Amino acid sequence: MSEFDLLILGGGSGGYACALRAAQLGLSVALVEEDKLGGTCLHRGCIPTKALLHAGEVADSARHASEFGVNASFISMDMLAVNAYKDGVISKLHKGLQGLVKSRNIAYIEGHGRLVAKNAIEVNGVQYTGKNIVLATGSYARTLPGLEIDGVQIVTSDHATKMEKVPATAIVLGGGVIGCEFASVWKSFGSDVTIIEALPRLVALEDESTSKQLERAFRKRGIKFEVGTRFASATKGPDGVTVTLENGATFTAEVLLVSVGRGPVSANLGYEEAGLAMDRGYVLVDNKCRTNVPGIWAVGDLIPTLQLAHVGFGEGILVAEEIAGLNPRPINYDGVPRVTYSEPEVASVGLTTAIAKERGYDVVELTYDLAGNGKANILKTAGSIKLVAEKNGPVLGIHMVGARVGELLAEAQLIYNWEAEADDVAPLIHAHPTMSEAMGEAHMALAGKPLHAHG
Ligand SMILES: Cc1cc2nc3c(=O)[nH]c(=O)nc-3n(C[C@H](O)[C@H](O)[C@H](O)COP(=O)(O)OP(=O)(O)OC[C@H]3O[C@@H](n4cnc5c(N)ncnc54)[C@H](O)[C@@H]3O)c2cc1C
Repeated sequence: MSEFDLLILGGGSGGYACALRAAQLGLSVALVEEDKLGGTCLHRGCIPTKALLHAGEVADSARHASEFGVNASFISMDMLAVNAYKDGVISKLHKGLQGLVKSRNIAYIEGHGRLVAKNAIEVNGVQYTGKNIVLATGSYARTLPGLEIDGVQIVTSDHATKMEKVPATAIVLGGGVIGCEFASVWKSFGSDVTIIEALPRLVALEDESTSKQLERAFRKRGIKFEVGTRFASATKGPDGVTVTLENGATFTAEVLLVSVGRGPVSANLGYEEAGLAMDRGYVLVDNKCRTNVPGIWAVGDLIPTLQLAHVGFGEGILVAEEIAGLNPRPINYDGVPRVTYSEPEVASVGLTTAIAKERGYDVVELTYDLAGNGKANILKTAGSIKLVAEKNGPVLGIHMVGARVGELLAEAQLIYNWEAEADDVAPLIHAHPTMSEAMGEAHMALAGKPLHAHG
């Protein structure tokens, strides 16, 4: 078999995006995948969780229908039907993706691949070679010592996206993005949920004000949480799983979701033998995703950048374009939009106040309360848009909490990435009544000309 221009190991967001872009640029491409094309995001990550969250939103709409003058009531979840809806979405997208890969003449190789030389991957006893090798083997759900995942009572997100029954009670270990999304889903589905987080706040990578607002909103929804307390042990008994914290507190629930982060899939794949520089299992790369071994590249959750599908897409495209000689611009990771799709949503781009200060900026802040926004009142959502800016300079960060604020990131990321100042954004007329108006109002207020703002 002839040598491919790109031989890609892993068909998730990072690997398939790289394959599609490289093929589009006229390069010959082979993609090796041992499970399903689309990887974590499509089959057990972004898409299934967002479908579950949407089902939860519908349940909440039924629950609160009378507040809008609609006679309806929430009876119960039918998980078979929820899963059929969710699987239908996945299946349609999966078929579409398979069609795309086929239409671009990408050689799709099914099976477990292993790097056996600096330019070769072995799959099912056959060696394939590439002028360039792109590693995109992704990540897996981590657990803690002494916490054995059984897939029934003690589960990871892999199992939680496929549950056939709503747990009456659930403990979510880890209050990051994935933990908060599942806590939100299960609460909407009718579970009694408690989150346990070792760090002092939920969604700890976000601006501190964001965590406070999410915590307030979760408290209002009846989602319980313990922050700043570490997990000590878990035991299974007839009443479910009992979790003991280092401070001695105990919690018992039908299901324990372990959402303590994701680790790189890099063991026993020949990476060390090839001489790749690695750190705690992550493959290290430069700002063009090149490893220390010439001709080997790495993208997605396998490298220590933000573990997000769109980051994987961006890195995959970057590598394809670099190999094709287009000399693309490196990714500015601060400018990547981030969303936690809980109810309420959390969305941000750019720097938090703490990071902006650490980097030496003279920081000004402005928080626009969604209470002043017509659409937010129509939706009955609470939250805010917080701007972090350099004094007399550009906007450095935008931090949002509230229903549907994830959709506002499209504008927020333009503002941040184009280094706009409040005066640039304030004159832009935003449609009324939309949530996006709050973005305009926040910048009007920062520019010293607030319209619908109290105080
Ligand atoms: C519950 C959950 C929710 C998430 N929600 C979001 C979200 O809303 N938005 C977002 O942006 N991100 C989200 N993510 C993160 C997102 O899924 C990942 O960042 C993304 O999938 C990473 O892409 P990747 O290509 O690096 O790895 P993966 O998607 O993990 O793909 C790696 C692929 O490589 C294959 N593979 C591994 N080893 C081998 C081998 N030796 N041989 C052959 N094939 C191999 C695997 O089978 C897999 O298909 C979520 C993740 C989880 C778990």
